[in-house]
Amino acid sequence: MYNLQGKDDLANVLTHELTHVTFNQAGIGTKLPLWLNEGICWHNGLAAQEKVNPTRTNRIIKAMTANLKKTAQNGELLPLDQIDQSLLSASYNVEFQGYLATEQLIDKHGLDHFKAFLNQMQRQDVQRSFQQNFGQSLSEFEKEFTI
Ligand SMILES: [Zn+2]
Repeated sequence: MYNLQGKDDLANVLTHELTHVTFNQAGIGTKLPLWLNEGICWHNGLAAQEKVNPTRTNRIIKAMTANLKKTAQNGELLPLDQIDQSLLSASYNVEFQGYLATEQLIDKHGLDHFKAFLNQMQRQDVQRSFQQNFGQSLSEFEKEFTI
């Protein structure tokens, strides 16, 4: 955390890591697929960063989205369900791919459904909770997702 550029970066990193802690305490950290776990942490982290420095945060999101679109156009984007194995070996930021997939779910179904999905996961497995709240199987979404 010493090499962070500004307060907005600090807000992002702290919020991101606290979200991981919250998931682990709720017992769902290991149930979530990696792309979704990181995607939600990125969602919260960037939301916190945006509150401190909206202009810079939006610039970062735009630049990273453009980069990922280029990756997709080159046919190098991995399916979401392969991200777990490729976290360290991928040629691009797979966590940001998870973020964009998470944003797509929230945009399409609303934050309330998304929260219900997370709450339900405390009682049942991720597949059933995903299906019930998003009307589609997790593996189907993972195969279909594009940017
Ligand atoms: Zn993370």
